[in-house]
Amino acid sequence: MDVNLRSDTVTRPSDAMRTAMAAAEVGDDVSGEDPSVNALQARAASLFGYEAGLFFPSGTQSNLAAIMGHCQRGDEYLVGQDAHTYRNEGGGAAVLASVQPQPLANRPDGTMDLAEVEAAIKPDDPHYARTRLLALENTIGGKVLDPAWVADALAMAKRHGLATHLDGARIFNVAVKLGQPVDVLCRGFDSVSVCLSKGLGAPVGSVLLGTRDLIGRAQRARKILGGGMRQAGIVAAAGLYALEHNVGRLAEDHANAALLGGLLSEIPGLAVEPVRTNMVFVRIPAERCDALAAHLKASGVDASIRPRTRLCTHLDVDRAGIEKAGAAFRAFFSARAG
Ligand SMILES: *Cc1c(COP(=O)(O)O)cnc(C)c1O
Repeated sequence: MDVNLRSDTVTRPSDAMRTAMAAAEVGDDVSGEDPSVNALQARAASLFGYEAGLFFPSGTQSNLAAIMGHCQRGDEYLVGQDAHTYRNEGGGAAVLASVQPQPLANRPDGTMDLAEVEAAIKPDDPHYARTRLLALENTIGGKVLDPAWVADALAMAKRHGLATHLDGARIFNVAVKLGQPVDVLCRGFDSVSVCLSKGLGAPVGSVLLGTRDLIGRAQRARKILGGGMRQAGIVAAAGLYALEHNVGRLAEDHANAALLGGLLSEIPGLAVEPVRTNMVFVRIPAERCDALAAHLKASGVDASIRPRTRLCTHLDVDRAGIEKAGAAFRAFFSARAG
């Protein structure tokens, strides 16, 4: 079987996960009557230390519903230039919510200069959008935010009366990396969005966590966005299974990423960035990218090769797969020398 390193979204539900899905009790979740969805929401809320949770078909929709829950038309949210909500979600906050993003530079470690963020908060003046929300992301580009910086950012937001949202698509990777529970890592954020369909291996779904009030507003937004699902317990059961079984094993993904980073860094001509969680970023000479992509494909390794390539580890890639991928890279670059 091919080794797929394109993303940690490419996982397939395991037999055990599918069994849990097949056995799920279901009802109409738009009326709040799906026991499996309710169980997932309650489980996530308790795990993260929030009053309530809400199941979404995607993280994109969960983030957008959170922004809509915190902001009105004509408001603005502060966000990193590299953040998924700003960069990779089709500009949804602007397009669908009439909420203006105020992007700010991310530093190489994923944080932002808080003086810069603070300076971007607009005074109450009809010339300006109303600054309402600060959105962070953790991990961001595979990097774990420094917890001390997160605390400073939350304190700054509080001083200015801003709400705070965490795009915690991969917050469990942070938890496993730092050895800290997610409720501690998320403390102080008004809302958190968590993906079940990345490293956790569920086929679909994200959960948004917050106060009952915020979740009520997000539920209205979800309906507007077309995210009200009926017998969604079938997929929620996969999420519950993932929370029970697939969190601790993220450590294997981190170890595999470190192994892959090590193998690639031995190859002359490749520059590997420090590996923090389940992603390896490697710089590849632009003129070699097409040939490398073809070689990897022929070798059974699936990767999106670019001058700065991201390789992701996940629960469908084991150590042998990593070694196979490393060998395929090595073969390509040593063939050129010979
Ligand atoms: C994948 C991802 C999302 C969105 O999730 P989808 O389910 O793909 O819509 C949001 N934020 C981050 C950081 C992500 O990696």
